[in-house]
Amino acid sequence: MIYLSNGRLLFPCPEDRIREYCRLEVYHGYDDFHSVSNVISRKDIEATKRIFSMIDQHGHSESTSILSSTAITSALSAVPDKELGRIADEEWRAIRESIGSLFDAFHSIDYVGLAKTAKILHLKRPNLFPILDSYVVEFLTGTRLSDVSSRHALTDTGVRTMEIVRKDIVRNFQSFRQLKEALMDLPIPLTVARMYDILCWTTWKWDILGIRQTTKWVQTDSGFRKETGHVSKTLLDPNQLGEFKTPTTRSPTLPSSSPRFIGKECVEVNTLEELDQIISRKEGFIVITDTTGNKIHSISCRWVNRNGFELKVIVNRKRNGRYFWCKDYDGAKARFRAKDCRTCI
Ligand SMILES: [Zn+2]
Repeated sequence: MIYLSNGRLLFPCPEDRIREYCRLEVYHGYDDFHSVSNVISRKDIEATKRIFSMIDQHGHSESTSILSSTAITSALSAVPDKELGRIADEEWRAIRESIGSLFDAFHSIDYVGLAKTAKILHLKRPNLFPILDSYVVEFLTGTRLSDVSSRHALTDTGVRTMEIVRKDIVRNFQSFRQLKEALMDLPIPLTVARMYDILCWTTWKWDILGIRQTTKWVQTDSGFRKETGHVSKTLLDPNQLGEFKTPTTRSPTLPSSSPRFIGKECVEVNTLEELDQIISRKEGFIVITDTTGNKIHSISCRWVNRNGFELKVIVNRKRNGRYFWCKDYDGAKARFRAKDCRTCI
């Protein structure tokens, strides 16, 4: 048993949960790409894309700035790859300050937030940094990353989250050591920090939000192939979730046979089920609105996918944009003043 989120949640079956995660979610293709050094490489960035870091996804090229940043290299060299649960209080105060500077160096780059930062940093310092994406941060602090706008507030949120992670790991250190022993047979070893984020992330996504479709990568001769699955084995009893409730703003689920798109010209897409339904019908176009401009895509474009949709519509609750299905290309373009997607149109 392990206590998570500042001791607020008692997680009863960590070993089973991590095994299920490694079977179903992103593990191969990311967790086997640790490279402890002070220089971030193109290979690191590519590995984070497999865990959906969304780096360079929206036509920006933040990877170029990350790769050429001397501020990041210099801040990273001040942060050791120490086991987070083994850092003494006094030493932690110094390391925490260095972590703040490192987060700041990342966050000073446009379109680079805490999730992208942490997905890179876990590869460079696997014993110290868990992946702090929007699910993990909201589970641990109650803060939605999409609500945090300034660079300094983002860094503060990151450091505050690291404090909670450290406390939880220190408090459960013995249990984490045992867990690591029990999971020795996994093909790719996981660090304590990573096991911790897997427990938090799956609790938020699978148990609390109820998103149970999974994605993993399978290595083939021609590269990594995406494979989807479904969670079923280790779901928690709702009573165990205690104070953690499903956020009320979550979109309602429509039955998959819903005929709501038939015969209409343009409809907003609100749920993953609706998105699946539209994609499978292979008709019409998708407009993705965004604060940086709207884009129109063909229905089969690779940018029209569950992960992007989930981030924008469900996780970020449409704060930066929305998805619309439209029957007609010209009508949709005029209505949304949308630019053509450079990939598909
Ligand atoms: Zn497209």
